[in-house]
Amino acid sequence: MARILLVEDEPGVRLALRLLLARAGHRVIEAETAREAWERWREAELVLLDWMLPDEPGLRWLKRLREDPAGERLPVLMLTAKAAEGDRVAGLLGGADDYLTKPFSEAELLARIEALLRRSGYGKALRVGGLELDPEARRVRLEGREVPLTPREFDLLAVFLAAPGRVFTRDELLDRVWGPGYLGTPRTVDQHVAQLREKLGPDWIETVRGRGYRFRGAR
Ligand code: CA
Repeated sequence: MARILLVEDEPGVRLALRLLLARAGHRVIEAETAREAWERWREAELVLLDWMLPDEPGLRWLKRLREDPAGERLPVLMLTAKAAEGDRVAGLLGGADDYLTKPFSEAELLARIEALLRRSGYGKALRVGGLELDPEARRVRLEGREVPLTPREFDLLAVFLAAPGRVFTRDELLDRVWGPGYLGTPRTVDQHVAQLREKLGPDWIETVRGRGYRFRGAR
């Protein structure tokens, strides 16, 4: 189960894909335009990207994504109605990890998504120093000892551990952990960071003044 950004402007196709992905257990973030997709990709663990969007070609959007250090390695599966081999090559050169031509079977799409998630290390245990987080079992161990975390604390730590050293703003963390519909304030993030510091020790998560928080990677 992953958070998938579905970038597709045709309502019928988008609805069908949303239902399919939700049935497979994924959480779907929908975007109709390249602009919307740009606002949401930081929440996603994989992107399904339509080739033709009303405001910007999918490939150009992808190029921008790859130029952002945080978007460099985000798995992207391109969807297109174009069947020409030349486009396939262009899609891969443009930084897509995989490519599907419409119409495709539901089973094939789900299989490609699973393969991409596996390749990107999704679901694998994350280890930094003596800290280990197992996303499947939703357990955290520190120096081999289990640390009981609330679901929100767990999700917050998972975001940090996936990108040690990266600075996250409070708004980014709110979006990723609580979801964009959540009416929380940046204070909510501060409280949860404080709880994590209490349970794991004070030095893992660093406050970056005026910007947000960063996971330090080692004590
Ligand atoms: Ca389209």
